Amino acid sequence: MRVGRTLPPAAVPISFREILSGLSDLASGMKAVARFETELREYYGVTHVSLVNSGRTALTVILTALKELHPEREEVVIPAYTCYSVPAAVTRAGLKVLPCDVDPATLDFDWEKLGGALDSGRVLCAVSAHLFGFPADVDRLKELASPRGIFVVEDAAQAMGGEVGGRKIGTLGDIALFSLGRGKAFSTVSGGIILTGDTRLGDAVTRAARGLPHEGWGDFLLTFCYALALSLLVRPGLFWLPKALPFLRLGETRFDPRFSMKQLGAFQVGLARGWQERLARLRETRLRKAVFLEKAGVKATARFKGAVPNLIRFPVLVDEAKRRRLIEMSEEEGLGVALVYPDAVTGIAELRGTLLGGPAPQAEQVAKRLVSLPLHPFVTEKDLRRIADLLNSVAGEGGN
Ligand SMILES: *Cc1c(COP(=O)(O)O)cnc(C)c1O
Repeated sequence: MRVGRTLPPAAVPISFREILSGLSDLASGMKAVARFETELREYYGVTHVSLVNSGRTALTVILTALKELHPEREEVVIPAYTCYSVPAAVTRAGLKVLPCDVDPATLDFDWEKLGGALDSGRVLCAVSAHLFGFPADVDRLKELASPRGIFVVEDAAQAMGGEVGGRKIGTLGDIALFSLGRGKAFSTVSGGIILTGDTRLGDAVTRAARGLPHEGWGDFLLTFCYALALSLLVRPGLFWLPKALPFLRLGETRFDPRFSMKQLGAFQVGLARGWQERLARLRETRLRKAVFLEKAGVKATARFKGAVPNLIRFPVLVDEAKRRRLIEMSEEEGLGVALVYPDAVTGIAELRGTLLGGPAPQAEQVAKRLVSLPLHPFVTEKDLRRIADLLNSVAGEGGN
């Protein structure tokens, strides 16, 4: 265990001032929630915004709404390498998971395989993920999906604030979600945003979201304590402390479709105050760090040329035999190099026997070879140089 400066793999700083805004918005309640919704609608130029307690709730609500519009379709195509919350939300919505293999060079769909996956006539929607904030090719997915009557859900859980070709991520598909969870592009400890410019989808989402309960005082107290703890403990000088506590299970990924589904609390809306400027600043800082790593010879396994993305981590494929050593060395030095999802969707034990489609060998390779490098505001240029040196030296070592 390391005691001393340790970088978290991803972070959005929360200040004491934002916690005070949270308390003030808690007092104004629904008015604050309505203000945040209006700000989001205007910024994104969409007709509909819903605020919920997590990204996975947002996805479940979206899927429930789509299912209501096309009850005869029950398959959901998702990337075979993505956050476990995605298949968990599909399961929670009572739909079937159809994983499609990914291209290791982009982490987007393997387009050759996607064509076949969309052809059963029972596919309700395809979920496109901007992993780590690197833009997925949503236009290409729409070209394949829309003529078949398949909705495109943009999973922008990790990508709020990014733009591609002058268009905002979150407005590229038929409907989108952002996560406001810890370690995402922008954070209010937890939370989820649904947006769409399609009134029919917006109405269906409103119907599906209306029944969700409001947060209670217990939820607020927990979030409040969590926000206070995070505002201190994500700093590199203190992060070794939560990292050393095994019961916090930091960085652990579990498949669990029994998550709580509620509306977003007013305290969290207050934590988001000033989000437009903060998001722009975060995006600028992270992008500068990603460019620094590229110049230092570290190659991301996803592309962002021509985009202004909000990159939350820098994904790198490394030699499977060397990955463990790389992580150990990073842990010793507190550099924040991290593993991502432990397996492909096709390897999730709880889903065995329920998945549609075939194997996803490329996604399984990615799961064995991927690491992520930190890009958040606490990462210094000196850290980046040490991270690049570490990667280059491990990559240069012969054998195991
Ligand atoms: C985090 C994440 C989600 C779920 O968001 P939560 O707020 O954690 O529920 C969905 N999709 C992707 C790609 C994610 O990274």
